[in-house]
Amino acid sequence: MRTDRARAHAGQVSSRLRVVYVDHCAQLSGAELALLRLLPALAEAVDAHVLLAEEGPLVAKLEAAGVSVEVLPMAEIARGLSRHRVQPGHLPGASVFHTARYIALLVRRLRQLRPDLVHTNSLKAGVYGSVAATLARIPVVWHAHDSLETDYLPPAAIRMVRAMVRHLPTMIIANSQTTRDRLGAPGVPTAVVPPPVHIEAVSRSRPAGSSLRIGMVGRLAPWKGQHLFLEAFARAFPDGTEQAVVVGAPLFGETDYEQALRDHVVKLGLSERVELTGFRDDVGAELEKLDVLVHASLITEAFGQVVVEGMAAGLAVVAAAGGGPAEVVTHDHNGLLYATGDVNALAAALQRVATDSGLRERLSEAARRRARDFTPEVVADHVVEVYRATARR
Ligand code: UDP
Repeated sequence: MRTDRARAHAGQVSSRLRVVYVDHCAQLSGAELALLRLLPALAEAVDAHVLLAEEGPLVAKLEAAGVSVEVLPMAEIARGLSRHRVQPGHLPGASVFHTARYIALLVRRLRQLRPDLVHTNSLKAGVYGSVAATLARIPVVWHAHDSLETDYLPPAAIRMVRAMVRHLPTMIIANSQTTRDRLGAPGVPTAVVPPPVHIEAVSRSRPAGSSLRIGMVGRLAPWKGQHLFLEAFARAFPDGTEQAVVVGAPLFGETDYEQALRDHVVKLGLSERVELTGFRDDVGAELEKLDVLVHASLITEAFGQVVVEGMAAGLAVVAAAGGGPAEVVTHDHNGLLYATGDVNALAAALQRVATDSGLRERLSEAARRRARDFTPEVVADHVVEVYRATARR
């Protein structure tokens, strides 16, 4: 499928930098939402065209934001290959074949579009997009949104990605220092640029006597730790009036996990005090109804946009002390950090914010100030600098 805008793009003469964005995923996952927020902020400097490898909700969102988008479909056996199946000498032959075929298609399309640079926005797109851009002789910016960890990716996949990032990109953008450090590409120019966040601060005044609302926002997946949050909530407030809200849906097939969470709520006897809302488009409206935002990932979070979103909304944020969240949050100043995966530490932090309204106000003030470092304007300026240092003109 190619939109009218895509056709217009091919013949358009523009003084703006012409950038083709490549992503294998059209779901509303973190990296894709980050792209959706970045492109409008870049509009003055960049003539953007997005090439996705599947149809999905991101297509309509990009179009609604005025972004040129095209779907160049990739065979599902290659596009949907689980990262856990990347093992030495055991890559499924059909996936390799269809990836190679796709690279050839992409090279042809990039030669038609002739952008100043290619920006790969997902790990898989980094793999096939950087090869295609290199073959088409176009500079490539590899945007790393994932932390290369053995608890997230098998060692063979990490070795393959590291070999590629060392040789193919002209420049790397890492979404945090953590992501940068774990990429293992010290010789490649790398800029640490966070994703943009544009959540409005809202008034946190609540009617006297209303129950405290503590929430988690993010896709439902075991490593995101929604079960840890529910367990800690149950320990912290066994018979209180506090409410827990879990915003998000499984995006990559984790429906069993969603059911397990619902069963867990019943088992904990919390059905009256816990709400699972499903996916919400307007996260700002959900944050407005909360007092405290919890981040509970069990493995190193590369960035964790929800943490900054909670801070921008002026919530008291309680986050796992590792990766991106620990780079953003200063403990006891603009949020609270607890030892990753430690249910008792999380329960204690929740009790602390719940019983001390002065602490919540202090954290909220400092969090709003910190969130200003992540506005789309600040981030877009940084990205344009990276592009100018990279693009062929
Ligand atoms: N999000 C959303 N609706 C939901 C749940 C999450 O729009 O129901 C958004 C959330 O606001 C954030 C993004 O999904 O912008 C998740 O990004 P994050 O970096 O926190 O995690 P990732 O999904 O990249 O691991």
